[in-house]
Amino acid sequence: MKLLEGKNVIITGASRGIGKGIAQVFGKAGANVAFTYSSSEAPALELEQELSAMGVKAKAYKSNAGSFAESEELVAKVLEDFGGIDVLINNAGITKDNLLMRMGEEDFDTVIEINLKSVFNMTKAVQRTMLKQRKGSIINMSSVVGVKGNAGQTNYAASKAGMIGFTKSVALELGSRSIRCNAIAPGFIETEMTDKLDEKTVQGWRDAIPLKRGGSPEDVANACLFLASDMSAYITGQVLNVDGGMLT
Ligand code: NAP
Repeated sequence: MKLLEGKNVIITGASRGIGKGIAQVFGKAGANVAFTYSSSEAPALELEQELSAMGVKAKAYKSNAGSFAESEELVAKVLEDFGGIDVLINNAGITKDNLLMRMGEEDFDTVIEINLKSVFNMTKAVQRTMLKQRKGSIINMSSVVGVKGNAGQTNYAASKAGMIGFTKSVALELGSRSIRCNAIAPGFIETEMTDKLDEKTVQGWRDAIPLKRGGSPEDVANACLFLASDMSAYITGQVLNVDGGMLT
């Protein structure tokens, strides 16, 4: 029996990067995967096909995680299409980096809306279903930057730190109904998000990591697999660092 056989999962932002890696690992583990994208339709449809070929149910939805109304609509559609939701992974995220001195109000608000308010939107939208079934696992993709801070990322760090407070509060509110909520704090994971950085900065990050390499989407996906499955049935309210030892 596969670890997530027959489980229905929603992943936000899975057209590429870490979200795509999670979808692939979860598909291999037998999960039915509903996932979202905001604009990358072609890669999303390609992933939908790749997952379907694994013999699981898979569907891509265009939905802005930062919108409360779109998140409610999305969850209603997924319930109609899949019949239930066992796992929610709040993964969608963006960066709009700048030193505080140069950061505009819009860049602060947009990052908070897409990275943090999205977690409220989606968690609220799946809550009723999980409460009814008295079971569920919610995983929020935070960052080491939310734990430690990072110059040039006040907006991003605030959004990722906010996700940790949200995670711990949901764990306290919903634990009595066997709904678990945990966060993952990835370190430096090599995706399109980090492709924006120059090679010198990237090498600097790699050198500072005890395991001497950047992480892969699969490294993060494997941690998600553990937190989504019953292997972690007694774990809630935690932040799991997947960072090659960066914060040690
Ligand atoms: P990425 O390669 O830039 O991919 C981001 C994904 O999110 C894409 O599928 C994108 O879809 C989607 N997305 C963006 N805005 C969205 C919105 N408003 N609604 C729905 N989907 C949206 O990023 P990544 O590196 O995989 O990062 C994934 C998550 O891990 C993020 O929350 C990020 O903060 C976190 N993280 C990453 C790292 C790292 O080193 N890479 C480290 C720590 C934490 P479209 O292409 O359609 O826009």
